[in-house]
Order: sequence, then structure tokens, then C-alpha cells
Amino acid sequence: MYVLASYIIVEKYFFIKRKGYANAPKVELEYVVVHLDLKGAPPKLAYLASLLPMMKKHGVNGLLIEYEDMFPYDGVLENLRRWNSYKKEELHAYLVAAVSSGFEIIPLIQTFGHMEFALKHPHYDFLREAPKFPESICPSILESQHFLEEMIKQIISFHQKIAPLNYIHVGCDEVSPINKCNLCRRRNSTNEELLTEHVHFLVETVHLLSPTTTVLIWDDMYRDVKPMDCSNLILTDTEVVYWDFTAKPHEDVHINMNKYGRMFDNIWIATAFKGADGRESILPDLNVRFYNHLYWLDFIFNYGTMKKLYKFKGIILTGWSRYDHDSPLCEILPASIPSLIINLILIQKYTSGIVVENMNELDVFIDEHIENNLDSSLLCQNRSKRFLNAFNSKKCRYEESDLYTTLQLLSNAYKCFVLKNNASNDDESSIEYENVGNVQNQMETCLRIFNELCKITFDKEIIGLLSDYFENEVILEYIRSKIRSLQENIKRIVPIFSIK
Ligand SMILES: [Zn+2]
Repeated sequence: MYVLASYIIVEKYFFIKRKGYANAPKVELEYVVVHLDLKGAPPKLAYLASLLPMMKKHGVNGLLIEYEDMFPYDGVLENLRRWNSYKKEELHAYLVAAVSSGFEIIPLIQTFGHMEFALKHPHYDFLREAPKFPESICPSILESQHFLEEMIKQIISFHQKIAPLNYIHVGCDEVSPINKCNLCRRRNSTNEELLTEHVHFLVETVHLLSPTTTVLIWDDMYRDVKPMDCSNLILTDTEVVYWDFTAKPHEDVHINMNKYGRMFDNIWIATAFKGADGRESILPDLNVRFYNHLYWLDFIFNYGTMKKLYKFKGIILTGWSRYDHDSPLCEILPASIPSLIINLILIQKYTSGIVVENMNELDVFIDEHIENNLDSSLLCQNRSKRFLNAFNSKKCRYEESDLYTTLQLLSNAYKCFVLKNNASNDDESSIEYENVGNVQNQMETCLRIFNELCKITFDKEIIGLLSDYFENEVILEYIRSKIRSLQENIKRIVPIFSIK
């Protein structure tokens, strides 16, 4: 999901100037969905359950649950499940609670690319598109189809015991390698044709089990299709989820939207509230996350509500836990609650007819419509405003605020001390500093952060703060990937800083 995403410093995006929409027509979105990415680091279900009332209060009515290896597969697929995957009964109880609170449950399973969780097993490696790469499954092998049919069957059967399954997301993003093996190449199809044929198979499989379920797919594999060629790629009974996590629209957005409007019945938009600000990021960049949501809402308002060019079915706030199966953990869910709430408040404004009239007055809009609501939601008092500059969690009393405060220090320390080493790790002259630029100019800030770090026993502090949200294995991984690497890098950098 991230190869195409770029992590840019926010510049103000020049939106079309409008006036007179203080009571604008409402942005109509049937679904506001939060993505729960469980990749190998699932939050405790009790914690996920505790978030339901907050999400509901802020207008969420759907959950896109990306199970990967956390789904309790059984029978012939038993070896797909991670040893600490959710137990059937517990997952069932959580989903029942969510459905009873009015949430639409949309399971997400990868069925083409990003299939490392399955294809890494020797038992399934013969299904790979390219023998050395566990990312993609070959769609031309009969056994691949049987394997995917079984996955889909178990997912649908489990969810239908709880509520009718209206949607299932089958992934299909960033499929690479694709169309490489002899079987696929003999089909003499373009990558997009191959994908379309594969999605037809997936839709048929889903409909045999559940005729009323609509299939969702990510859009990115169709971005390079020329508009004149998309008539061969029309997918009925399939809806596309157009994802872009950057802070300003990609220049091809209009061309793509025009294609998708012709190829699919409905278009969904996917933003990101976490997991799109760097592979090793500790906290979401509130600034980038806000502009990402703002530009998409402005787009939907302009082209869905006002010009009625496209029908936007819903918005999915994605929250990635890792960039892929083997990547380190990025921002964890409890550290991303402020980002989630800020952007849900923004969506609620647009869906109730309060939109940004003029981007030159964005600060006024934020003061009037976002900041106070944020204070109220996160129990903050006398927080120095605005969140776009810095979010002062010390002034807030929401459940995860202490964690946020500690991780802010960790995040700042990363910016000072986490290094990008070149091939030779021992060559200190090759050290580069992430996000800091000129180290000398940042010396004073980094020294202050270093001194603050010295006062904290991070391991203990983090274990205490995370134990409400994650099992030990996840916490240990977090400490290993974030704190150990920080400590090691500090050890290396201290001589350079001449700190005793
Ligand atoms: Zn193949």
C-alpha cells in the first residue's frame, strides 16, 4: 500500500476558492469506515471494543478489518493463523458488539499481492508468481484458485453467522511481481487484464457463497491504464477504493476518477489517519494527516456534492500497522487516537454542511470548528493551540494521553538520533540524520531531548503504558524495534555530540 505513497512536507494546497458555503450542501457519504490493520500486532479485543462508543460518537459506521494472519483460520488453512491470532469466540463476541452498535463489518483479505503471510509457508510456496518472491500469488494455477476459494469461504461463513455480509474487500493493491510466470504470460494479457480476470473469479467465488455481497478492491493497479483502454476492464458488482495518503492531490486524480467513474458502480475514498508517515514512524504527522483528509473532503464536496460527477459511497480512514508483512511496526493504534479524532471531526463537519469556504481562512475554520471539539473529545484544557503546530497531550486526560506524551519524546529522540546508515555501519562519516538536516543547528534541541531521555527508563515505562492495549509479544517487538535501535544509535552518536 505504500510504494506509491510519498511522504511530503505539507505545502498549502491551493483549493478552488469558494464563498458563501457556511451552510453548504452536505457531503453525503453512506459510510465512514475505520480500517483496523491487524498485521501481526493486533490490539487486545477489549481495547478495540472500548473504542466503539468513541468511534460511533464521531460518526463512524463501519470497520474495515484487515485480518492477515490474525484470523482464526481452521481446517486446511490452519497453518495460516499466527500463534497469537484471535480466538474464534472472542472475535465473534467483538464483532457482535460492533454490529449491535450499528457498525458495518467489512473483512479485508489479500487475494493477489501482499500475500507474504501465506506464501512464506513452504506448504504454499509453489503458488508464488515468482519462486523467490512471496508477495504475489499466481492467478493461473488451479490450486491458487482452490486456496483463495477456501480463504473466502471461511471468512464469509464466519461473518455471516453474525450479520449479513454486505461488503468484502479483496485487496489487490501493489501486485508485484505480476504476469511473470510462463502460465500467466501464455494468457497473453496485459497486467490490468490479468487483474480484471482474477477479480471476475473472486467476484464469482464470493457470489456463489453470498450473492448479495459487494466486492471492494484497491484502485492502484489501474492507475496506469489509458482512459481509452478502460472499456475492456469494466468490473460489475465491484466497487473501487481510491487511496491516496498524501497531503495534496496527485496530478492524475481527475484522469483516474474519470476512468473509475466508467469502470465501477461506485467509488470509495481511502485516506490515512496513521501508518503513512514513514516505515518507522512513532506518531502520525497530524499536519499531513489533516491535509490528506481535507483535500479529499474538498474533492468529494466539489465533484460529488456540487457537480455530481461521481457517486462517492464512503470514506475509509486507513490505519496501517506495518508497511508490509515483514516491515517493523509503525504507528500503533493507541498512539494515533488524536489523529483519528481530528479527522473524524473534520468529516463530521463536511457531512453536516460546514465546509472550508476559503483556504486562506483555514485557521479560522480550525479554531471555530475543530479545536474546541477536539478539546471536548480528548478532555483537554488550556492546550496550547493549534494541533497543526504541535499537539500538547500533557493538557489532556483521555485514556491514551500519557502514552502519547511519552511517545512524543521518543519520536523527537528518533528525529535527533536515529540514523540512516549507509552500507558500512561502522563508518561514522557516512551517518545521515532523518528529518533533521543540519545537525549542528539542532544540537541544542537534541541535547535537551537527550537529557530528558536520561531521566526515563523507557522499557519499564513503555511496558506499563502498552500493556492495556497489546499482548507481551507485541510490546517486546515494539521495544526491540523502537527503543533498542534508538539506544544503539545514541551510543554511536554520543561521541559525535561529545556527551559524556
Ligand atoms: Zn502466474
